Amino acid sequence: MSCKDNIKVAVRVRPLNSKENELQECIQVLNDKEIRLEQKLGTTKKPQSSKMSSNTFKFDYVADHTKSQKEIFNQVGKEIVDYCLAGYNGTIFAYGQTGSGKTFTIQGPTNENNTQSESKGIMPRSFEHIFYNLNRLVKENDFEYLAKCSYLEIYNEQIQDLLDPLTPVLKLRESMERGVYVEAAIEEIVTSAAQMSQIIKKGTLNRHISSTKMNENSSRSHAVMTLRIEIKKLQEGLSDVTKSSFHIVDLAGSERASKTGAEGMVLEEAKNINQSLSTLCRVINSLTQNHLGRKKFVEYRSSKLTNLLRNSLGGNSKTLMIANVSPASCSFLETNFTLKFAKSAK
Ligand code: ADP
Ligand code: MG
Repeated sequence: MSCKDNIKVAVRVRPLNSKENELQECIQVLNDKEIRLEQKLGTTKKPQSSKMSSNTFKFDYVADHTKSQKEIFNQVGKEIVDYCLAGYNGTIFAYGQTGSGKTFTIQGPTNENNTQSESKGIMPRSFEHIFYNLNRLVKENDFEYLAKCSYLEIYNEQIQDLLDPLTPVLKLRESMERGVYVEAAIEEIVTSAAQMSQIIKKGTLNRHISSTKMNENSSRSHAVMTLRIEIKKLQEGLSDVTKSSFHIVDLAGSERASKTGAEGMVLEEAKNINQSLSTLCRVINSLTQNHLGRKKFVEYRSSKLTNLLRNSLGGNSKTLMIANVSPASCSFLETNFTLKFAKSAK
């Protein structure tokens, strides 16, 4: 990842599910960089159905449904994590309509014990990699580290603490020392991947509880996991400290309000989701343009999410956007929307 390549966009196609098995696919993965979207007549598997239109998109990485969680981590996730260990800030986003595989990609299947399973997602794999390396540094050299984790949820432009759902809405603050931060957010000191998975479990449970209680759907909120890492190198009485932040964000479902309206999505909520996702897209796009030497204003402040992540987007920070899509023809419109969004981020 060179400097001008600080932002990477990947697309992951999930397998058809049992309900979609009889349906035609609208996606063809051509190779590990190119994907073709086709709109066909009819929705059942008939050989005579003819192509109506097709569009080929190019990304930094495209994964078809056969790609394992391990491959996804090794291909695109690990690089960001390694940069964080080297002192850079890094953020991984999962974008896509509800049901496209965001949570699967980030966490893994939610019904299994994720830390054991081969299908664990980028999040547990990242933390295993981080703590393996941090603890190895301490064992083999004169290093100390301090890692602190917070887990927040942004729902309707309000920040809530997933590690303590009883606390009231949290506020964003800014200081010379810390940059942008969330005031009074719980930060747990962590020293192992096992401890991280307990925290993830607790946060995930709280996300479900709070959304059920308030009759919301967790797919309408962004979940932001942050690990702040400080590594201190002790050398002849002097110490050299590197600080970095690593964020993993499971974004709110990108489906348009019209589709979810029938299920009772409040207009205000839909507007806030659209606003924050489109702001995210414009922020990433402006950053890419800036890397190319075009001076673009970056409107971080237009949403809570981009404002919260301000210090980790742009500059030397590394960003990975994973756009998740369903291959089923019935999702053609949403898949088209997601691929266009992903394309416009770069
Ligand atoms: P989202 O978080 O975008 O709403 P999920 O991650 O919950 O979507 O995925 C929806 C369903 O599809 C889940 O049952 C999940 O286990 C399954 N799924 C998603 N991606 C994959 C994949 N790559 N391989 C196998 N199953 C998947
Ligand atoms: Mg989800």
